[in-house]
This record gives sequence, C-alpha cells and structure tokens, in this order.
Amino acid sequence: MIIVMRAGATQTQIENIVTRIEKDGFTAHLSDGSERTVIGVIGDDRPMDRRTYEIMDGVEKSVQVLQPFKLVSRDFQEHDSIVRVNGVEFGSIGVGIIAGPCSVEDRTQMLETAHAVKEAGAQALRGGAFKPRSSPYSFQGLGEKGLQILAEAREQTGLPVVTEIMTPEQLPLVTQYTDVLQIGARNMQNYELLKTVGRSIHPVLLKRGMMATLEELLMSAEYILAEGNRNVILCERGIRTFETYTRNTTDINAVPVLKSLTHLPVILDPSHGVGKWNFVTPVALAGIAAGADGLIVEVHPKPEEALSDGGQSLLPERFADLVQKARAIATTIGRE
Ligand code: PEP
Ligand code: MN
Repeated sequence: MIIVMRAGATQTQIENIVTRIEKDGFTAHLSDGSERTVIGVIGDDRPMDRRTYEIMDGVEKSVQVLQPFKLVSRDFQEHDSIVRVNGVEFGSIGVGIIAGPCSVEDRTQMLETAHAVKEAGAQALRGGAFKPRSSPYSFQGLGEKGLQILAEAREQTGLPVVTEIMTPEQLPLVTQYTDVLQIGARNMQNYELLKTVGRSIHPVLLKRGMMATLEELLMSAEYILAEGNRNVILCERGIRTFETYTRNTTDINAVPVLKSLTHLPVILDPSHGVGKWNFVTPVALAGIAAGADGLIVEVHPKPEEALSDGGQSLLPERFADLVQKARAIATTIGRE
C-alpha cells in the first residue's frame, strides 16, 4: 500500500503516519515529490484496514499497489530517480557511458585502457577484479590487486570506477576501492548479497540474470531499496534464447518496458548482450534510441590477448567511433 499525503501536509502529520505504520508492524519509506509526500508501507501481507489511515490528518488517499514490487515502481515515485556517481548522473538527460576491460589483467592494460576510454568520452571506468567465470579453470580475476589497479586508474583519469562484488563478505574490501558496486547476472538472485549492498551507501549496478524476467529483476532491485539504498541502476545485458549465432539476445524491449514500470535508471550492456565485437556498436545505438540512460561497454587494447571476453571487446578506436555515433543518436532524441 502507498499513502499519498495532501499537498502541504505538515511534517508532524507525516511523522504521525510513520509512527502509526511502525506501530502496526510495517516499515515506512518516504518519497518526497515536488508537491507531495508519498509513503510506501512495506511489510508482510497481513490484511490491513486502509481506511484507518485515510481518516488521519494530512492524508489524501491510500492506494493498493498490485504489482509485487513497490519501492521501485512508478506508483511509489513518478519522477525518474537520478543516481549520482562522482558528478556523473544516470537517469537525467545525459546518457552515461561506462567503459573498460572485462577483467583487470595487469597495470599496463588497465591504465592504457582507462586513458583511451576517457579520451574517447567515457564517463566511468569498468573492470572486474573478482570474475564469475563459467569454468573454475578460467582466469578468476586479480582480487585486491585488481582493485588497487582500478583505484590507480581512477586517480590518473578522474573517472569513477564500477566493479563487481561477488559475495557479501567482499563488501568492506570492494567499497574501499570502488564507486559503484556491480552485481553480475549470475548473482541477480543472490538475496544475501542484495541485502548486503542494500545496507551500503554505494550506488549499485544490478545486471539482469540471463534467464530472469523483468519482474524478477525488479524484485531483486526491491531487495536493495527495501534495505535503504535507493541508488540502483538496472542493466539489461542480454538473455538466453534459442538463437546461438550470438552469445545472448539483447532484449531491447526491456529498456522502454522497465522505464515504464520503474523510476530507476536503466542502462544497456551491448557487449554481453550480443557477444561479438562487430555487432556491439549497432546494438548500443539501438539501446540509446530505445531510451537507455547509459551504456556499459567492454574495451581492450589487445582483444586477442584478453583473459576474458576478448571476442566482444572493442579496440579503443572502435569505442571512440561508438561514442561519436551515440552522441548523434542521443542528440536526435533530445538527450545529451
Ligand atoms: C561482466 O560485466 O564482465 C560480467 C561478467 O557480466 P554479466 O554478469 O552480465 O555476465
Ligand atoms: Mn565480461
């Protein structure tokens, strides 16, 4: 249920509602709009009498939210959320581009890539230090050493860093070095991890599971918001279909559909979405045309030597070309 307060409801009236919600055994989440405050009532599904809230001072109405996701829904918050990452905004008029290698492999590779993507116009850096690989024999990432290299790349370029966290225990370590916590596709339904990052103040980039529905993605985001962290960016990264020519099938539909259901920013990962470098740029452009608030793109100076995902990584000059084209599409649809 959500409770919509009247325009001009006083602070005391809002506090009275919150006290009552908590007394009834629920949690209150406030959304302050430009005109009125909306209060989300979150808790188990015990029957409650909405009318008892509707007669309280300052309340305009109560609304039963039928979708299973509440705090991430447009019912709870109509206007777009803006997630700020060191001065870069996701969810506002700009289309933010995150770029970098799949994995941090060594200092030279990471620093070279970082400078190249910055030069090309990227606003944030990516690079995995903890890698979820299909095979236990594949490169698993450099761990803390990789995080240190990422931090050096951030210092040299001024670009904020996005990196994956794989377990709740890694939170203290990873947050020492990163600006954004990435939850990978394979961990989208790792509920303990979602709750842990929900208690952090760091922005979270939540990737869609390769076999997850949009509702499941939104329910995972709900876990994070329910713990108090509202800085969540959703990421479509391709799903499994019967098609085998490409690694995954980029679900472009997900972009406008998610934007209609949730106020959270939605970005696209064309690299994992299509899985072959020569198709990354057209898919990226389609994502922007469809309304994505950003892109996350894999770039490597020597893709043929990459320790992971070389086949879908763009050379820096190809990434620069993608940015140029992205700019043209963004401008055409009134974005920056
Ligand atoms: C990645 O970003 O390199 C990655 C492992 O992505 P995903 O979790 O979407 O497979
Ligand atoms: Mn990758």
